[in-house]
Amino acid sequence: MLNTLRTVFGFQAFRPNQEEIIRSILAGRDVFAVMPTGGGKSLCYQLPAMMKEGTAVIISPLISLMKDQVDAARENGIPAAFINSSMTAEEISGVSRSLKQNRIKLLYIAPERFAMPHFLAVLKSFPVSLFTIDEAHCISEWGHDFRPDYLSLSLLSREFPDVPAAAFTATATKKVQEDIIRRIGLRTPFVVRASFNRANLFYEVKPKTGVASQILGFLAAHQGEAGIIYRTTRDSVMETAGLLVSRGISALPYHAGLSSEERNSNQEAFNRDESQVIVATVAFGMGIDKSNVRFVLHADLPKNIESYYQETGRAGRDGEPAHCLLLFGRGDIPKIRYFIDGMEDENERSIALRKLNQVVEYASHNVCRRRQLLGFFGEDYPQDNCGGCDICTGSVEQIDVTVDARIIMAAVSETGQRFGTGHVVDIVMGADTKRVRELRHNEIKTYGAGRQKDKQHWRFLLGELLAQEMIRQEGDPYPVLKLTQRGLDVLSGKEEAKALKRLEAKSKTKPIAGSSSGRYDEALFERLRSLRKKMAGEHHVPPYIIFSDKTLHEMCRHFPGTLPEMRRISGIGDAKLQRYGEEFIREIRAYRDGDPGAAAGRRG
Ligand code: ADP
Ligand code: ZN
Repeated sequence: MLNTLRTVFGFQAFRPNQEEIIRSILAGRDVFAVMPTGGGKSLCYQLPAMMKEGTAVIISPLISLMKDQVDAARENGIPAAFINSSMTAEEISGVSRSLKQNRIKLLYIAPERFAMPHFLAVLKSFPVSLFTIDEAHCISEWGHDFRPDYLSLSLLSREFPDVPAAAFTATATKKVQEDIIRRIGLRTPFVVRASFNRANLFYEVKPKTGVASQILGFLAAHQGEAGIIYRTTRDSVMETAGLLVSRGISALPYHAGLSSEERNSNQEAFNRDESQVIVATVAFGMGIDKSNVRFVLHADLPKNIESYYQETGRAGRDGEPAHCLLLFGRGDIPKIRYFIDGMEDENERSIALRKLNQVVEYASHNVCRRRQLLGFFGEDYPQDNCGGCDICTGSVEQIDVTVDARIIMAAVSETGQRFGTGHVVDIVMGADTKRVRELRHNEIKTYGAGRQKDKQHWRFLLGELLAQEMIRQEGDPYPVLKLTQRGLDVLSGKEEAKALKRLEAKSKTKPIAGSSSGRYDEALFERLRSLRKKMAGEHHVPPYIIFSDKTLHEMCRHFPGTLPEMRRISGIGDAKLQRYGEEFIREIRAYRDGDPGAAAGRRG
């Protein structure tokens, strides 16, 4: 196993769970595995496929991804092919012939093939070493992406009782897991539920103060790095993409309002590093296998934590550090509320509302972002300090706001919990309004108690108290403020109130736990990246399929000057060494000879 790992894939060690999964498959046992994006699922079936006789059949729902997967396997020297509806009859029979001649190790097919009666005969015409069901959650109606075609996979265990089957997904609750195992008919499978922690992702939330300047500022710190900017509406997508282009940043838009040709070509350009940034609505992401996405910026509030995790999950699949920034503005809440209020089904509406509240909590609570995200999926994060989020790295500071919180809550309480935000702030500020005079609220104790601070301060604090559920809003369309039990505890002196204050960028360094980050020569990286892009163009594959960013970073740390040295770089197996080794060595040498002082410009 280790030998294949090194010679074919060029890796020195297994990632968590890979070895156990591969052992099970080699022993002929079924497998069910939930692993996060970037966890290294492909290797779990590609490696045993290389070791076993016959062909491994991989069922994968997205035709658009099949080509990439096949290209990536071929780059590693693994004979691979796909059969799908985009092919002509001749092409398909060509593949069938190669299968019978035992010349293919990996065969990718779409699930609808199984519903075709003659396809079973094709499958029986060659020895199958293993079935792999990718995106296995698609078989469950409880999952979020049910595809009826997947149901026909239940014939696998009946028709191929001696062939092991391995099901993989990046998302499955326990209930979906049971459903998948039952529907595919997996026989007491080896079950893996991997941690969902993405250690190389840095999570950060900043208050939204000015989207345009914040995005430009962020991109200035991420020059030349590939990334996704998510926006809620088509108009804002176009606006942001236009802004970036006007500043000389290569960016393309992606939303459901564009023609499918335009969407495909924009996605493709992003995939091939021809466009640095893609600005997109949530319509973008399915079928993205690009491993070198270095940041995901949410310029608007996501609808729920599941989507946020999934969208940020597209960053850093190669395991190298990547930055996830959320710009959080309370002004986004009413826009999402508006959608939710339009939902017909009362049950759905209340679920959507609860999910929205969870995102708001995520953004406003003073708790490690990683701990919150993992907690959301039922996982306990054991460390006190994750070292990879804004809270843990101390770019935010907790401040005590107990005194001011009590002023607001007293005003709410004294006026009988019957008034909204605007009026309560007026009372605290001691505003001389008609309403205040009519209700004689200028005679209560808290009237003017907060005069020395400005309106913005009180509005901000009210927002914090709402987010922390010390106060809640009730009633439509004119919500009034009510104290919750927590609020009453603060008011009565039993508890204290805290809020977050941002310390503006002390330093730009972002320590990241568990990543392989380290110094590398940045100027060399630029050169190798151009070379990678050139080779990718010649070989008609996306650049990340030639070498991942991680592999290039390693070259820029170790400066391999000979083939054996190159062979020790992670991600370079025999096939890639032979295909690209010389060329990259030449580039590294040229750089070294022409620019001996390069080590000075190293990135920290
Ligand atoms: P998933 O399908 O689970 O999202 P992939 O199979 O695409 O993840 O793997 C993510 C990245 O991790 C790929 O670039 C892959 O080459 C790399 N990878 C997989 N296994 C290992 C390993 N044992 N060591 C180093 N890198 C690995
Ligand atoms: Zn943290």
